[in-house]
Amino acid sequence: MSDRPETLFSKIINREIPADIVYEDNLALAFRDIAPQAPVHILVIPKQPIPKLADAESQDHALMGHLLLTVKRVAEQEGLTNGYRVVINTGADGGQTVDHLHLHILGGRAMAWPPG
Ligand code: AMP
Repeated sequence: MSDRPETLFSKIINREIPADIVYEDNLALAFRDIAPQAPVHILVIPKQPIPKLADAESQDHALMGHLLLTVKRVAEQEGLTNGYRVVINTGADGGQTVDHLHLHILGGRAMAWPPG
């Protein structure tokens, strides 16, 4: 049992609200963003409710690696052979709007830099 408040993404993990899930294992879930910013826009989240990257602890290091390898796996599954961008918005200045750690995979078009 976690003492962290339930978020929108916990509800997706628990199948309380629908999502277009593209990958799942015992540690992670990946689903399509509801407001896609690129032809492919997928969120990879840990099932463990870590609110943001800044809340990850040293004991989470294996999970953090797993999330990155899940990004790679899902990107391959989506056929993003020409590259893609991975974004972790963190906290207010980072533009984070859902307090459950998530990695954006954006692909299917060339990305601009710097981000806004
Ligand atoms: P961030 O701004 O980095 O916190 O990203 C949150 C992302 O969650 C945004 O890109 C939203 O479009 C996305 N989002 C919000 N609600 C849902 C939902 N129910 N299903 C899928 N994606 C969602």
